[in-house]
Amino acid sequence: MADFSLELNEDQIQIQKWVHDFAENVIRPVAHDYDEREETPWPIIDQAAEIGLYSLDFLMNAFADPTGITLPLVMEEMAWGDAGIGLAIFGTTLGVVGITANGTAEQVMEWVPQCFRKENDKPALAAFGVSEPDAGSDVSSLRTRAVYDEASDEWVLNGTKTWITNGGIADVHVIVAVVDPALGARGQASFVIPPGTPGLSQGQKFKKMGIRASHTAEVVLDDCRVPGRCLLGGKEALDERLARVREGRSSGRRQAAMATFEASRPAVGAQALGIARAAYEFSLDYAKERRQFGRRIIENQSIAFMLADMKTELDASRLLVWRAAWMSKTGHMFENGEGSMSKLKAGRTAVWITERAIQILGGYGYVRENPVERWHRDAKIYDIFEGTEQIQQLVISRAISGLHIQ
Ligand SMILES: Cc1cc2nc3c(=O)[nH]c(=O)nc-3n(C[C@H](O)[C@H](O)[C@H](O)COP(=O)(O)OP(=O)(O)OC[C@H]3O[C@@H](n4cnc5c(N)ncnc54)[C@H](O)[C@@H]3O)c2cc1C
Repeated sequence: MADFSLELNEDQIQIQKWVHDFAENVIRPVAHDYDEREETPWPIIDQAAEIGLYSLDFLMNAFADPTGITLPLVMEEMAWGDAGIGLAIFGTTLGVVGITANGTAEQVMEWVPQCFRKENDKPALAAFGVSEPDAGSDVSSLRTRAVYDEASDEWVLNGTKTWITNGGIADVHVIVAVVDPALGARGQASFVIPPGTPGLSQGQKFKKMGIRASHTAEVVLDDCRVPGRCLLGGKEALDERLARVREGRSSGRRQAAMATFEASRPAVGAQALGIARAAYEFSLDYAKERRQFGRRIIENQSIAFMLADMKTELDASRLLVWRAAWMSKTGHMFENGEGSMSKLKAGRTAVWITERAIQILGGYGYVRENPVERWHRDAKIYDIFEGTEQIQQLVISRAISGLHIQ
């Protein structure tokens, strides 16, 4: 048996096909409509939950794949259907990763199922709130405070989070807050805000350029009290960690927010690939049909070569995503920022391919009767969220140089 293979196994092929069918038959037909209406696609979330696609079991199964490739496969297919709807369904995973990356086994058991199901058995959503109006790329400058009230064994949170996917409509919010401001990023911790907790409310909902079916809003925390057990990792571990930092010893742990982002980057890159593939396929078909000057436009080298480059970039990006997903699952350390590389490349590829797709369609690409302009709008977010292009470059350049590049 060969030691190295890029062939998908039977399980992966089956899952890919199942998700693709959902993307093609359920998501695509409504994608334009939800983009126009800029609404959360609740009926589609319900359908995904009914068939078990949006479920803890399905996600656990995908996460458990020892090769690491199943999750990117799922993300690519969903985003091929529609990235906004895909995020409306799987945006929950960011909150879930926030819990699993920082919580104890008991906390994971208690909260992760609640990210998927309400008490009445209807689907639930989760959100992960790090970003603030004055702390985007610089997550060390968060201002949201969490103060421990010893008398009631509660944490009291105050502050405003912004750009939060599912913010305010989620059942479970995971919030990163400052416990000790003197320690900067190392004085932060993550908290679960249980469903219906008073003091958490939605601020403004943003009107966006793309991924418009995905809800993005501010989350306001106003004397929001949560039980002591909502501190992820537990109080004892936090106290020990803070003491180590104060004594100038290593915190022994990466920043809470960064740990979450690192684990999820290849999956986010895979979503960008889904959009890029959709645009590539559409423009290839179009170029084979559209005739000008008495021949199909693909018979011009300038169009055919553009498509050749699009396919090459798409496949190269997928290889980086699969490599990072495989490395992170199989315990290979990211020594050169491979997670960041995968997301950096996939985001750029999606923006570039969707722009080229508009070019291939000409005027027909610039109007809303064809989906390529939407895909271009959707693609741009992949250069921005979960670490901008420049932040990925920073991670990679620091990793390859061993220097603290600014
Ligand atoms: C649709 C959407 C959904 C989102 N969902 C979530 C979510 O669920 N949870 C969450 O916590 N956040 C979320 N975000 C926030 C997102 O992660 C931030 O927007 C992103 O991290 C960038 O922060 P910023 O917008 O404040 O930009 P800034 O950090 O202000 O960056 C502005 C520009 O400066 C550049 N820059 C900044 N610092 C440096 C540097 N050191 N070197 C070089 N260039 C630099 C950036 O690359 C960028 O080009 C979401 C954002 C959007 C738009």
